[in-house]
Amino acid sequence: ETVAEAEKEARGKPVLVAGVFSNVAENYDTMNDFMSLGIHRLWKDHFVRSINPGTSTPSSSSQTSPSPGWTMLDVAGGTGDIAFRLLDHATNINASPSSTITISDINPSMLAEGRKRSLTTVYAHSSRLSFLLANSEHLESVSDNSIDLYTVAFGIRNFTDQPKALREAYRVLKPGGVFACLEFSGVTNSLFDAVYKRWSFGAIPLIGQLVAGDRASYQYLVESIEKHPKQEEFRDMIREAGFEVPGKGWEDLTGGIAAIHKGIKP
Ligand code: SAM
Repeated sequence: ETVAEAEKEARGKPVLVAGVFSNVAENYDTMNDFMSLGIHRLWKDHFVRSINPGTSTPSSSSQTSPSPGWTMLDVAGGTGDIAFRLLDHATNINASPSSTITISDINPSMLAEGRKRSLTTVYAHSSRLSFLLANSEHLESVSDNSIDLYTVAFGIRNFTDQPKALREAYRVLKPGGVFACLEFSGVTNSLFDAVYKRWSFGAIPLIGQLVAGDRASYQYLVESIEKHPKQEEFRDMIREAGFEVPGKGWEDLTGGIAAIHKGIKP
């Protein structure tokens, strides 16, 4: 390496590092695609279909008559991925153009990205969509018993105090309202788990390094998935917050790489 090359490299570095941080929100979906081989999109579609927003009663998925509209809250809603899908489903499948959603997130850049993306949807400047900068553990500006559906996708494992966030979810939901969570979980087959662990601990930090120039964040991602409570334990936490849990309480996706957990406020 020549001196000129070394100097060029040193000058480029801060720009590169700054770029990584300011672009995290924008690159978020691309990184998700790399990490999950695009499967996160299918999980999100399935998550929303399983909730069936906009039906007559939030807790019933069998009714198809038009409803007065659901009041929905997507917590850790980041870039709006779940929120736009929920509104689309309520509008197009359940003829519920009056269903509304608030996207809430603790991170202003993620929220800004969601706002920017909303401009390319039919919900641009619509009163059906609003944004709230808030910590999931302190949703003071959301009233008690005011929400039909609370969703959180790939967010809860990052919360510092998950039981507290679950109690806040319980507080803001109306009786009969639904808590629905999509999150990484535990692979149930031991052979598949061994393959998955090799992929996640081996490849993901490397991909993070190569694509985003940020190995540490992706190392954290893998570790946070490993630390998050597995299916049964997480279901029990939902019960502990006061929810009734339908059936066994969760649905595994792709062999348990992710799971959907639901609770209903009695
Ligand atoms: N729900 C989106 C999705 O599925 O694509 C975004 C998920 S992203 C992995 C996690 C989000 O959780 C980030 O936008 C982050 O800012 C947010 N988050 C982390 N801790 C939070 C907290 N305590 N309260 C609210 N949001 C939080």
